[in-house]
This record gives sequence, structure tokens and C-alpha cells, in this order.
Amino acid sequence: MDLKLLPRPRRLDMRGGTFPAGGSGEIRFGSNAGALPGIVTREWREETGGQLSAKQVEGGEYFFSMGEEGPRPQVADSDPEAYCLEVRTCELAASANTYRGLLYAWQTLKQLLRHGAEEIPCLKIDDWPDLPWRVYHLDMKATRRRLSNLHDILPRLSELKVNAVLAEYEDYIQLERHPEFAVPGALSKDEIRPWIKAAADYGIAVIPLVQTLGHWQYILGRPEYAHLQEKPGDTTSGCPSQPGTWTLASDFLDEMMELHPDAPFIHVGLDEVFHLGACKLCRDALKGRSPDHLFTDWLDRICARVLDRGFTPMAWGDMVKLLDKDMGKRLNREAVYSDWGYTHDGGDHTSVRLHYKDHVSRQWLLRPEGRPPGVTPLYFTPDSGIFEDLPEDERSRMRPLLDTDGYPGKLKMGYPLAWIKQLGLKRAIVTGIRVSYHGCIAPLFFHGQMNTRAGAEGCREHGARVLIGSSWARGHSFARINAHPELDWYGIATLGDSGWAPLGEDEMRDFDARFAFQFFGLEDGHIGDLYYLFERSGPRAHDVMDDYTGYIEDECGTMLPKVKRNMELFRLFAEIAGLQALRFRCQKALLEMEYFYEAWSRVPEQFKAGMLARIGDVETEIDRLMPRLAELYKSTLIDADAEELAASQLRFWKDNMLAMKDRLWG
Ligand SMILES: [Zn+2]
Repeated sequence: MDLKLLPRPRRLDMRGGTFPAGGSGEIRFGSNAGALPGIVTREWREETGGQLSAKQVEGGEYFFSMGEEGPRPQVADSDPEAYCLEVRTCELAASANTYRGLLYAWQTLKQLLRHGAEEIPCLKIDDWPDLPWRVYHLDMKATRRRLSNLHDILPRLSELKVNAVLAEYEDYIQLERHPEFAVPGALSKDEIRPWIKAAADYGIAVIPLVQTLGHWQYILGRPEYAHLQEKPGDTTSGCPSQPGTWTLASDFLDEMMELHPDAPFIHVGLDEVFHLGACKLCRDALKGRSPDHLFTDWLDRICARVLDRGFTPMAWGDMVKLLDKDMGKRLNREAVYSDWGYTHDGGDHTSVRLHYKDHVSRQWLLRPEGRPPGVTPLYFTPDSGIFEDLPEDERSRMRPLLDTDGYPGKLKMGYPLAWIKQLGLKRAIVTGIRVSYHGCIAPLFFHGQMNTRAGAEGCREHGARVLIGSSWARGHSFARINAHPELDWYGIATLGDSGWAPLGEDEMRDFDARFAFQFFGLEDGHIGDLYYLFERSGPRAHDVMDDYTGYIEDECGTMLPKVKRNMELFRLFAEIAGLQALRFRCQKALLEMEYFYEAWSRVPEQFKAGMLARIGDVETEIDRLMPRLAELYKSTLIDADAEELAASQLRFWKDNMLAMKDRLWG
């Protein structure tokens, strides 16, 4: 039997025979089962239609069983999330080391049920995760999810064995000490506490992310806090030398730590902290030392606050790469530094980021002999630099970090990660599930997936224990909203799968089949083709537009009746495909006007009338779609964000099209 399990178990032994599990019956739980009996009976009913009665039995172990009572399975691994699940013809039983392990035994059993509950194949599964932390980034800076949606995503994350969320509340929380920052409708602590408890029931730790100096636009943009700006007029970074900055940062931290008493990490942000040392107070405090001291001293002070309360601090890693070795050695050793890299989709890098610039090797700008098979895409823009043109000391400093067998054809490791590693600091890898690529209305499904898969490999290779799939609501505070976060599930599934067990680059069709089956109840992995084609649709450098969106819409229509689970998420993707198709029609109308612009007086009137009709059709459809999308988004996002997101996906193109139309037709 071909079992499509997501993630794949580490060890699976098939045995002969089956166990009849369908319908109703009794399930026994050890006394440590916590919330699991409630979860299992509810989900059992949803999956099979049957009623289970849960019975608590004596004994403190983590186990559950059905059928005859036999010997309890022995857990083979000491990992806290390890479990053993055994199905025999007369009995089904699971043991684990912890609550979360037992929960994961149920998640696997649930996936087995979907292959036919009446006849579960006899087998033994020994399972445990490869990476201890598989974290989904829950950014609520712009796509502020409704409380109901925050609850709805928990069972799905749990099934994919994602065991933490990195919750970035920013102004979407009512803090006691600084209520002025909360947006209307922000979550109260009384709403968040039960959610954290529900997350724990699903084996998910909530890691709060608190920005403690940079990305303070929502604070420093207010007139009453403008005096805390490090550089007047710039709202990105606070001034570390002013007591008011510390008051805010420590107050935020204290309240967040109190609200998340069981958090495995407290993320203190500290990415993109620009301009430190710009103000006079800071310059005086430095007494001639480099401005890097402001950053390391501040980081140390913040980390000390977190460590004092018994938590482990975590910080973004991008500022670390800007420090030299002496300064790097001063960084707090207890903190975990999370390094992001979104451009690579395999183990190879083609650029080195230094001085806020991507540097590529001249080697990659040479024309290859003939057509090169599988060349890694090069991210080269007018802003890029040439690696060989960097000063000798910088190159020699980087060479041991970047050099691989393939150099200069390949750079194997992200420079920041290598640097964090060489400094002997604890590290996490951050991949991009939903990243701010200009104008995208959906995540880069394929690229984000390969990036996440590569990130999991990077964790294994470079000893990082934490894999974070980032999902950014906006590029920054003043940018348009990125795609709807409920389109992230393909990426989240990759995070869970590749973080749990190695996922080879050549196994993606197998992944698609498992994802499609478990997530949507579809019999084949064709949805993966559609995600891939969605990303390949778009204008190219030489004005050619690959547009697969019509095909994708048609295929979605064919598949829709076969979808058994998460129907609303499948519909959302189909809707986005339609939206993309409409946006392309709008872009094509613009391209057409550009094409005839110079020769406009010679274009036949009849042809112009056809163009005008097409423009009118697109306009009508956009006017119909935008409010419908806003309504759809409101089921998961707060009203303001739902409306802004829907508008931002179409209005720019519509306005451009109409402005150009007015220009040509007067
Ligand atoms: Zn300052």
C-alpha cells in the first residue's frame, strides 16, 4: 500500500493484515493525555463520522490504545517528540516520551485513517523529528488575522508537525503599559491567553516577537515619540542612548514575557537597525568608538533582561554580519541569531551580500560554452557589485566561509550564516514562505518551497536547531500588503516535512502527491504543477508574457468537486488564479497601448474601438471582483486589512490602465 504521509515517518515497517478502526468504539488514554482525548474524539468524528468514547486509565505514561489491550509500544528514540505507533490485527497502540510526541502519534494515525479507516494496514512506525524547532512566522503587522482564524490554523499546523509560531503582534495587541499603540480591534490579553493555551494543546509553542529598537515605524511615526528617533525624520530606529527608548523596549518585553510564560524563546527583533550613532547623545556616548558598540551594548542589555526572567533570547541575524570579528565576539552568547536568506533555492548561492549590496563573481557573467544545463539563477541588477572588485582583506576574510569545491562557480553557504557560525554563536535559519516580491499577489509557491527545503538542509549541515518559515505581511510599514497568508500552506507543509525528515530536491513530485492527498484529499499531486505554473506566469524581460492562469483556473474548476478537505483554502487559490488572470489582462491592455503609443494617429479607428471594448471589460470585471475579494478576505482578516489587501491587488493596475486610456482617447 502506498501511504502518503506528511511529514514522512523516520521508520515504517509494514506488516500483514489490517485493523478495523472505522465507526465507533473506545480509545484508552494514559493519565498524561491532557487535551488529546478531546482532540482525538472530535477529529475522529470529522474524519470517519464515527463516535469514539475516550477512557482514562491508570498510569502516568503517554499512550493511547484501541482494541485488545496488549504490550505498550516501546519508544525507540529519546527525542522529546519521538513516538511509536503500532497497528496489529487486534490492537492499535501508541507510546511517546511527551504530550507532543503522543499528539504526533495521533496526527500520523489520522493520516492513516484517510487511506481507509475500515482497514488500517498493520505496521509499526518509529518516528522523531530531525530538527527540534519548526517555526511558522505569524506576522500580524498588516494581515491581522481574526481571533477565529488564529484558532483555525492551529489544527492544520499541528498536523504538519510545525511546533511553534513566531507571533509578531506589533500594534495588534492591547498592552497595559502602552495602550496608545494598539490599532482599533487589537487583540486583548484575555483573548490571547486562551489562544496560547489552545496552541499548546496542539503542540504549538507561541514565541512572541518584540521589536526592541529597529522597525519602530509604528512608534516613531507618532509626534509624541518622534524625539526618540535616532536620525531626525527617520522612523526606522530608536535612539539607544535615550532613557525613553529603554522604557518602551523593556516595558514591551516585560509584558510579553508575562503573557507568554512558557515560550521557548523570546524574539527581540533587532533587524535592519539603521543609522545608529547619528544623534549627538549616541556620538558622545561612543567617545570615538565605532557605532557598532551601540548595537552590541543594546543587544546585550536586551538579552540580559530576557535571560533574567529565565527565557532564551532570539534575535535576527542580519546586523551580525556587519560586525567584524572583535565586535562579533562581544555578542551575547546565550542568544540564538536567526539568519534569513530568500534568494537561493538550492544549496548554492550566487551572491555575497556585503555593504548592503549583492556581489557576484565575474565568472558568472561569462557566456558559457553552449547551453548550460541547470544554471543557478543569478540575481543581478544595476545595484549589484563584483565580488572580485572588493578589497583584498574583505575577500580573504570571506573566502574560508564561502569557498567550496565549486568556487568560483558556486558559493555554497550564505555569508551571514557562515559568519554567525564562525563566531561560535547559536543560530537559526529563516526561509521565505511569503516574502515581499514587488507586486506579487501570491507567495512564490515554488521558489519559497525550494528555499525552505534548502533552509532545512542548511540547518542540518550547519548545526542550526531552529528552522523558521517567514511570512511577511508587508515589506515594511509603508509598503503594500503581501499576499493573503492563507496561501502559505504549501510552504508551511514544506517547512513541516523537510524539518521533520530530509526532503530531497528530487522528491518534490512525491511531496506534491502527499500534500495534495493529506491537505485537500486529492488523489494526485497535480496541484503542485499549478503552483509551479502560477509562478512561471508573468511578463518576462523581453515583453513576452507567459500566462498559464487560464489553464490554472480551468484545472482548479475540474479539481474542485474532488476536494475533500480545506475546501475554502482550495477556493482561495482558485480565486487568486482568477485574480491574476484579470490582472494580466489589465497589464496586457497597458502593453497594447504602449505598443501603439507612438503611431497612435495612424491606428485604424475600428481597431481602437476593439481596444476600448477590452479595456471596458477589464474595468467592469475589476469593479466586480474587488469588493467580492474584500468580503472573502474578511472571513479571516480584520476589515481594514481585508479591504486594503483587495484594493492593493488590482487598483494600481486599473488606475494605470485608465490613466493611459484617458491620455490616448482624451
Ligand atoms: Zn542616539
